[in-house]
Amino acid sequence: MAVSVISHESDMQTACPISLSTGLRGSASRYGTLIRAKALPGFRSELSQKHSMMAPRIVVKPPGPRSRELLSKQEELETRAVVYSKAFPFAIDSAENATIKDVDGNLYIDWVAGISVLNLGHRNPEVTRAVVTQLEKIWHALEIPTETRIGFLERIHSVLPTGLRGRAKIMTTVTGADACETAVSIARRITGRSTIVAFEGSYHGVHQGAVSLTSSRHYIDYAGVPRQGVFRLPYPYSYRFPLPVEKKGDEGKVVLSYLEHLIEDEHSGLDDLAGIIVEPVEGEGGYILPPKDFMPGLREIADRAQVPLIIDEVQTGFGRTGKFWGCELTGTAPDIMCVSKSVGAGIPLSLVAYRSEYDKNLHEGFHLGTYRGNPLAMAAGSASIDYMARNRILDRVTRLGKKTKDEFERIAAKSKNIAEVRGVGFMIGNEVVESKTTKTPSRALAVEFRRRLFESGLLMHTCGHYGNVLRFMAPLTIEEPLLEKGLQVFEQNIPKQGS
Ligand code: PMP
Repeated sequence: MAVSVISHESDMQTACPISLSTGLRGSASRYGTLIRAKALPGFRSELSQKHSMMAPRIVVKPPGPRSRELLSKQEELETRAVVYSKAFPFAIDSAENATIKDVDGNLYIDWVAGISVLNLGHRNPEVTRAVVTQLEKIWHALEIPTETRIGFLERIHSVLPTGLRGRAKIMTTVTGADACETAVSIARRITGRSTIVAFEGSYHGVHQGAVSLTSSRHYIDYAGVPRQGVFRLPYPYSYRFPLPVEKKGDEGKVVLSYLEHLIEDEHSGLDDLAGIIVEPVEGEGGYILPPKDFMPGLREIADRAQVPLIIDEVQTGFGRTGKFWGCELTGTAPDIMCVSKSVGAGIPLSLVAYRSEYDKNLHEGFHLGTYRGNPLAMAAGSASIDYMARNRILDRVTRLGKKTKDEFERIAAKSKNIAEVRGVGFMIGNEVVESKTTKTPSRALAVEFRRRLFESGLLMHTCGHYGNVLRFMAPLTIEEPLLEKGLQVFEQNIPKQGS
């Protein structure tokens, strides 16, 4: 069976036969308007165009023979603690924008984007050019300035949110966890206090300090460290909020007033408050968009308590929500901000941006790390910022994110097991339950759903307090026809159990 798609690059009708061993059905007409939408100029390489028209293409049930060989070699040579090759059991040959080819010739639609790292897709041509140019100059330079480093710092300063723009300093780090730990160290240093308020379902990494901020018990077990100096409050997760509320949408107010009580009441047990760390949209916790009053309310409380508000933008940053930073969804100004993932477009880089007046308390060597501020990653970061501005990526994410969410909602309405669709931009969660009546979360169904999608050529990962949320986090540059095909694959594989 063949489906006609229209190449939006040229806006011309190109009949393109797609291999349908995936069982992909449905007509292109439902998506006609989206498919005909204008493309971004200079957006795709020829190969990416070819792959995006062909995907998904499953020629052998994954894992195919060569994938199986490489997976078993990995099992022999590498720790059993690896995670992703169990969720997606294949071996990768190559990738282009929002497609991944495995070593057996299968072609997948990538809605994982390296866990929100590849916001501009795999091997974005402009980012590639910048990295190659840098490769020919220097690729490890410690903190010694280069043109590339200064160019990157200037660009990052220019895109900082209100509260930090024009009044920030940058400290480079290497990973998301590194950035979060460093942010908390800065808060503790400048306040001279120790306790940090963090939220249920939050994920800030698993280094020994960051894992204390992360809420899930199992991550803490992995790292084998005790929780220290962290006071935990519920995140306003309206579908499963643990406290009574008068009406849906009041969850933020309840959390805020409880936090105020904790700060004001000397007997509450919350002593020595040094800062509040929060994700503007909870990522690993289940793609939870809090009510609009929550983040501004935290801002007010932090001001009254005179402690820094640390906003973790590791997953929400770089356009993922349709704003450059997730905190801009509600105009909430951070005092300290953690940035990682897409800032290096897939080359490890992270950083902390903090209010410049904190700088006087941070002595030379306050934070160290041989690999901080890698020149290749900084070249990639600058090219990404330029690319996003030139191609109006934020508008694209807002427009396509809304259409995609509407589609997920339409699909969820007919499903017995998708109880809630939530999120914003390209950060959309589908909450999988045993039944909509009992609301019992079902990790088993979510994992089975993920497996079926994988076998049909669509990569989609789980998250959530109960591991029961299927999250949409495609590259922000995914071709529209490919996005539509992914939605068809999603719809064809929805679980059909329960009542
Ligand atoms: N903060 C958030 C919000 C994250 O989503 C993550 C990673 N998923 C981290 C911190 C930790 O980043 P890393 O894995 O690079 O340590």
